Amino acid sequence: MNQSSPPQRILVTGGAGFLGSHLCDRLLASGHDVLCVDNFYTSTRRNITHLLEHPNFELIRHDVTFPLYVEIDRIYNLACPASPIHYQRDPVQTTKTSVHGAINMLGLAKRTGARILQASTSEVYGDPELHPQPESYWGNVNPIGIRSCYDEGKRCAETLFFDYRRQHNLSIKVARIFNTYGPRMLPNDGRVVSNFINQALRGDSITIYGDGSQTRSFCYVDDLVEGLLRLMESDEEITGPINLGNPNEFSIKELAEKVVNLIDNGSNIVYEPLPQDDPTQRPPDIGQARKVLGWEPKIPLDEGLPITIDFFKGLM
Ligand code: NAD
Ligand code: UDP
Ligand code: UDP
Repeated sequence: MNQSSPPQRILVTGGAGFLGSHLCDRLLASGHDVLCVDNFYTSTRRNITHLLEHPNFELIRHDVTFPLYVEIDRIYNLACPASPIHYQRDPVQTTKTSVHGAINMLGLAKRTGARILQASTSEVYGDPELHPQPESYWGNVNPIGIRSCYDEGKRCAETLFFDYRRQHNLSIKVARIFNTYGPRMLPNDGRVVSNFINQALRGDSITIYGDGSQTRSFCYVDDLVEGLLRLMESDEEITGPINLGNPNEFSIKELAEKVVNLIDNGSNIVYEPLPQDDPTQRPPDIGQARKVLGWEPKIPLDEGLPITIDFFKGLM
């Protein structure tokens, strides 16, 4: 990102969450004014307590499904529960957050002339029939399953972003984020990295869903945040959608074995049923991000996992 860009007033919705709080850190370190908006649906103040006294940081407890009137230059729209157990707890609210939240933040961008970035997701590809997934792939999404509130909500948000651009000439950026991990994930969010690490730290069994042959690619949070910053400050005509993630693919079984090797607490591996609509394979094609943003992840899983393990140890 252009570190020398003049200070801006930047709104981060979902700014108290896992990704949002790291993004707030980076923006403040670059000298910007940061307005963090969050209703703490899936986060705690712990992620941002270290920022509360920062002179350029402001926190508003607010639900983005309701209108928000503030004066702002940039909007990072990250508000949305992201892990399956959280977004399935109140699926109607999940869709509202994606759709009404997008409409409100786009309305805000329209009124203020702010540039707006949407945290979309690899889930817009559903259970893909194409590997790796390029941005041109339209996806294979179940519209009525238990993951649909999230997948379709995010797809509709993308539609809104592009319609606000076509209809109102908004400056938009859409990032399709693939599985990201690191410190400040919630220990109980059910995501695979946090689950495995916390199970191993407790000496509990590691729960692999299915036979563990399904794959994911894991991006360390610092790499991901760098990608978001670069996308936001990219040239006006670059709208995305653009994949951001780590292209190195691992099976869930390989991940379990890595965690067990790093945390020697005698955990064994147990196999449980695979949840409905669980994608079998999901590596990103990051050709666009490499070409347009000059971005690619730098931190391999073997480096990011120990940092994340230390974070969870600290919580215990
Ligand atoms: P997170 O749950 O830690 O953060 C989401 C934040 O949004 C939380 O602080 C939550 O309290 C807040 N929030 C939820 N509903 C809200 C509402 N209605 N109004 C205001 N705030 C609300 O999750 P995360 O991993 O940091 O994800 C951030 C964004 O990135 C999400 O939009 C998610 O869909 C997207 N994303 C994340 C990943 C990943 O692997 N972490 C992958 C793809 C996409
Ligand atoms: N909105 C908002 N903040 C603003 C401007 C608009 O939250 O600063 C909301 C407003 O509630 C509206 C939505 O964004 O419902 C969409 O705004 P838009 O101007 O596109 O639509 P309209 O107001 O015409 O419905
Ligand atoms: N998973 C698992 N054990 C767990 C949690 C998740 O085997 O304790 C699997 C899950 O079924 C999926 C993969 O790990 O195949 C990634 O799950 P996660 O919820 O982290 O992300 P997503 O499915 O959204 O990619």
